[in-house]
Amino acid sequence: MPLSTARSSRIPRPPAAGRPSPAEPAPSSQVLPQIGRWNDNELILFFEEWQESWIVYPPRSAYDFLRRPTRDAAVVEFHSWIPLVPPDQHPVRPREGCLLHGMDCRAHEAIQAAVDTGFDPFR
Ligand SMILES: [Zn+2]
Repeated sequence: MPLSTARSSRIPRPPAAGRPSPAEPAPSSQVLPQIGRWNDNELILFFEEWQESWIVYPPRSAYDFLRRPTRDAAVVEFHSWIPLVPPDQHPVRPREGCLLHGMDCRAHEAIQAAVDTGFDPFR
């Protein structure tokens, strides 16, 4: 009488984990800022990719170190994170744009970025 036991030693393997295909780079290269600070005096946006901070000081800002050419002008300040690069200030009025460089100035991007976060840069 055979002693063999008909026992299957085959252990079923777990199915191979289905791996998604390697992530493709996002089609949009839009750089989104991080909000560093948001209050009545200023809005600070951090752009990690550009190593830069943008600060918008609205007319309601109580800071007295700002040199504001008119009472209704916002001041946009670009802060490079590179040491020894001085901050760059641009006074911007709602209808005239940057008082130093006109409508082509990138201070407009900062104003727009502020508006996009829900911040009112001209109040
Ligand atoms: Zn400017």
